[in-house]
Amino acid sequence: MENFNYIRPAKVADAAKAMKKAKDGKFMSGGMTLLPTMKQGLASPSDIIDLSGLKNSGVKVGSKSVTIQAGTIHADVAGSKDLKKAIPGLAKLAGGIGDPHVRHKGTIGGSVANNDPAADYPSACLALGATIHTSDRKLAADKFFTGMFSTALKDTEIVTAVEFPIPKKCGYAKFPNPASLYAMVGVFVAQLADGSVRVAVTGAGAGVFRVPEMEAALSKKFAASSLDGIAVKSKNLNSDMHASAEYRAHLITVMAKRAVDAAK
Ligand SMILES: Cc1cc2nc3c(=O)[nH]c(=O)nc-3n(C[C@H](O)[C@H](O)[C@H](O)COP(=O)(O)OP(=O)(O)OC[C@H]3O[C@@H](n4cnc5c(N)ncnc54)[C@H](O)[C@@H]3O)c2cc1C
Repeated sequence: MENFNYIRPAKVADAAKAMKKAKDGKFMSGGMTLLPTMKQGLASPSDIIDLSGLKNSGVKVGSKSVTIQAGTIHADVAGSKDLKKAIPGLAKLAGGIGDPHVRHKGTIGGSVANNDPAADYPSACLALGATIHTSDRKLAADKFFTGMFSTALKDTEIVTAVEFPIPKKCGYAKFPNPASLYAMVGVFVAQLADGSVRVAVTGAGAGVFRVPEMEAALSKKFAASSLDGIAVKSKNLNSDMHASAEYRAHLITVMAKRAVDAAK
């Protein structure tokens, strides 16, 4: 690791200011991705701006939506009794992220800002139609996730919270990579308050994506059998030592059916 300046501001505005001043700064939340990347020499920021000083953690359930502060660790999302009642599929997703160490350091803000193509939260954000709150604005998940490890965030912009509309029901199913525990394929299915259905896939492509054909079929009838015969083409899916594109395509339908069966 290279030397760097370390700053731990207490206010969002001060963190943004520190980033503006830095030559090549990086925000840090749980450090679960940033620190290994630095240890491997893949990043050597001039300044680390540690957002843990902002103390923005907590899950707040309202009548129509749930707002999770960006600094909330996965274990607290998984353990929130209120969330388990309002959006059980989201609490389940958080409880299946990585291992206990990762769940007690990694944060929702860090996860969505990082937008790893195999991360779990982006699928929930996209399927539930979440709104990402930042230091500057509010962005719909559909506009926030722009591709592999990329988002609509500007360099000095900080994710402050994620707001999820409460659906009628939702479910998540993931086929984890047995070594990393990231999703080889994960599918989040949500039947929203207006009855429409959204299906979002992680782990299979360059970034999280929706499957309109599955959404149309499930909007007509919310049952796993509605997905019989519907398959995502393997052409643009990931292929690596863990799974071929064809296998991932097959897993998408299997996981989507499991997510529908698990939905509550
Ligand atoms: C062994 C291991 C297993 C894992 N398994 C899974 C898994 O199964 N599923 C899964 O989804 N994830 C998994 N993760 C990732 C983990 O859950 C974290 O969510 C992820 O590392 C990012 O969160 P963080 O808070 O640690 O962010 P950091 O590592 O601190 O930051 C990540 C990136 O986001 C930026 N950033 C952080 N916070 C903000 C913010 N508030 N605003 C703007 N930018 C910000 C940073 O500058 C950095 O570029 C795993 C990680 C490890 C190490």
